[in-house]
Amino acid sequence: MIRLEQINRSFEVGDETVHALRDVTLDLATGDYISIMGPSGSGKSTLLNILGLLDQPDSGHYFLDETDTTTLNETDQAVARRDHIGFVFQSFHLIPRLNAAQNVELPLILAGIEPGERAERVAKALELMGLSDRAKHRPDQLSGGQRQRVAIARATIMQPALLLADEPTGNLDKHSGDEVIQTLEALNQQGITLVVVTHDPEIGSRASRTIRMVDGAIVGEIPRSSPGGTTP
Ligand code: ADP
Ligand code: MG
Repeated sequence: MIRLEQINRSFEVGDETVHALRDVTLDLATGDYISIMGPSGSGKSTLLNILGLLDQPDSGHYFLDETDTTTLNETDQAVARRDHIGFVFQSFHLIPRLNAAQNVELPLILAGIEPGERAERVAKALELMGLSDRAKHRPDQLSGGQRQRVAIARATIMQPALLLADEPTGNLDKHSGDEVIQTLEALNQQGITLVVVTHDPEIGSRASRTIRMVDGAIVGEIPRSSPGGTTP
């Protein structure tokens, strides 16, 4: 489904060049559940941003369903992003003055879907997240875990094949974090390809593959035969 080939990305900071990604090559199959771990500054978010078409590599290729996305113009990249990819951030990125339902509805409005269908799909998505009774609440009227589940509903409302989550539990207590991870895993079990960046080894070890990054490079991978964190 996805192939990253020899991806490099660097940033100029003052008169210094920071190599955020060095020759990163990675294959993801449909339905995979991957965690990315590594120290702060090791390039995890940069990698996720490139997978999410939120950032461009300086060199290398990113194939998404056979299409080399590095050859697409900005408009076609935006379309690919809208049609294939959902993104969840540590700090939720909800729009403060919109309520939960309106936040979830946004991608449907941008995609030109008519109001009747929008309302139906939003209601279904909120129900799936256990948030039907929170539809009219603004983000500041929701708990952290509820905010993240609104963000997940928004990220998946266009039914993307790929869901990317950058430290999705980083701002949550353990209980809400576990709920959010279980929500993401339920989506994966329904077929979505899931990539989770995390600092938390307990969360990281639930994935079926864990990729370890150091200093912009993938330095190892831990495959697991039985995903789901069923350590005795
Ligand atoms: P991680 O998510 O693993 O903490 P990042 O991918 O955010 O790491 O960052 C990798 C490296 O690239 C860091 O040294 C960081 O400071 C640098 N970096 C990331 N984004 C930018 C940017 N927009 N401008 C300058 N440097 C950046
Ligand atoms: Mg990061």
